[in-house]
Amino acid sequence: MELIDTHCHLTFDGLIQDIDGVIARSKAAGVTSWLTVGTDMQENLKAIELTGKYENMYAAVGMHPHDAKDVTEDTLTRLKELARNEKVIAIGETGLDYHYNHSLHEDQRRVFAEHLKIAAELDLPVIIHCRKSFEETMQVLDNHAGRVKKIVFHCFSGSAEQAKIVLDKDYYISFTGVVTFKNARIKKQAAKIVPTDRLMLETDCPYMSPEPMRKQKINEPALMVHTAKFLAELKGMDPADFANAITATSRAFFQIS
Ligand SMILES: [Zn+2]
Ligand SMILES: [Zn+2]
Repeated sequence: MELIDTHCHLTFDGLIQDIDGVIARSKAAGVTSWLTVGTDMQENLKAIELTGKYENMYAAVGMHPHDAKDVTEDTLTRLKELARNEKVIAIGETGLDYHYNHSLHEDQRRVFAEHLKIAAELDLPVIIHCRKSFEETMQVLDNHAGRVKKIVFHCFSGSAEQAKIVLDKDYYISFTGVVTFKNARIKKQAAKIVPTDRLMLETDCPYMSPEPMRKQKINEPALMVHTAKFLAELKGMDPADFANAITATSRAFFQIS
């Protein structure tokens, strides 16, 4: 079994200090490729640097919607330069977060649209962060996705109805360990209807360890096997078949050979 953690923050506190151990445990568990995601300029640079150390590690570069207020013309120019690095395989995370509201909605929408422009120009997939902003996110995508063909909603927290809307647009959906939580009834219903050729998995570590490891304070890629097992069961699939299917989906989506 070979799984790909399609969204992790390996440069964050708690993981980076023991990165060799984190990667060794991940490989031993069967999670053998990683996409470490940048959230601001400093993390983007750290992410790219880290990919140089490990063969199957890739980076995404973006400015998190939390920091949209600080994004200038210059930031976007630098982002585009970084995105040309051969280990950068996606733009993100970008999108709208109307839960924390660390940036004005107007700034978030502007920066989100700019990310879509960069992705279209460089022909890269986009990783969307969407929190309490489903309709607005779909609106920005309708208006600005343009030539961007591959879009994934990461850490999907919507309903089955919203999942259907996303799938109807030919976008992809990625689940974190949150789907394994006992109170995640809505997310489980959503996960049931997403076919494996549109479904990907991620840890979003260091946050949110899956059941039954929820008490582990710092999540890491190795724990993604629990989420994979849980979803295989939820879908009534053989765990190995499920893993193979979503790994093929992830490879095709991010063009990882
Ligand atoms: Zn996110
Ligand atoms: Zn994230």
